[in-house]
Amino acid sequence: MQITFLGTSSGVPTRSRNVSSVALRLPQRAELWLFDCGEGTQHQILRSDLKISQLSRIFITHLHGDHIFGLMGLLASCGLAGNVDRIDIYGPPGLNEYIQSASKYSHTHFSYPIKVHAIRPGVVYEDQEFTVTCGQLHHRITAFGYRVAEKDRAGRFDVEKAKALQIPAGRIYGQLKRGETVTLEDGRVINGAELCGPTEIGRKIAYCTDTIYTEGAVELAKDADVLIHEATFAHQDAEMAFQRLHSTTTMAAQTALAGGSHRLIMTHFSPRYAPGNPIELKDLLQEARAIFPKTDMAYDFMTYDVPRRREVELKEVPVS
Ligand SMILES: [Zn+2]
Ligand SMILES: [Zn+2]
Repeated sequence: MQITFLGTSSGVPTRSRNVSSVALRLPQRAELWLFDCGEGTQHQILRSDLKISQLSRIFITHLHGDHIFGLMGLLASCGLAGNVDRIDIYGPPGLNEYIQSASKYSHTHFSYPIKVHAIRPGVVYEDQEFTVTCGQLHHRITAFGYRVAEKDRAGRFDVEKAKALQIPAGRIYGQLKRGETVTLEDGRVINGAELCGPTEIGRKIAYCTDTIYTEGAVELAKDADVLIHEATFAHQDAEMAFQRLHSTTTMAAQTALAGGSHRLIMTHFSPRYAPGNPIELKDLLQEARAIFPKTDMAYDFMTYDVPRRREVELKEVPVS
């Protein structure tokens, strides 16, 4: 699971930061999922090493322009390129009407099926490997955060060990792989769990924007390997955050802390903190780290490979 930030500015793009979009690459199934689609997202994808042809799902948090103005252009280009099978789009009520109207008045016809799912809190998508849920955020209009949870997988079955124990291959292997206890024809009782490696814990990613501090985001951030959270404002501009229902760095960090997240990546920064201003983005980072040390700031085209929990634990053992 690899995250690529395609836009990290709030409201308007700047020279170095486009408006909101985050790509999630699932290399094991050659799929690309997108979270939000601000204007220019398709250009950002073209400048990255992501493949538009792999795009299969788009999750929209809310209907503000800086999160959806890139949608029509991207969907139209996917049709012209002609190499997309089908796209499922998830978002708040009204998203379908927006797409229908835009395609009607611009005479855009899609050469591939598009299905728009109006979401409400709970599970929005599930398959054998992943569960995607959404939760209510607190913003000026209806907004949802998302949580992508990879399912836990049974540890790897040790075929060599099974062979050494002279367990006959076939259906029994399947039962043992699932960790079941099996009685063989010769009377031996074999516990499958002993032939399997440790369970692979599924990774969890939470995406919360746009919102002021809210329990809904804390819920999505629970035990997340990585929480992507908006931090539009510096702590000293909290009053603006309350007025516009956005987060400060402090709120993003407190969400990560309260949710027991393992890492926080902040995004959706106000262009006001450009270099040369009394408060700069590096100050925002310090504010968040004071509360939640494992915080980073996203920048356009930043990628992050979400490590498996065991890998993380092994890496974090202090070297004595
Ligand atoms: Zn926004
Ligand atoms: Zn917004």
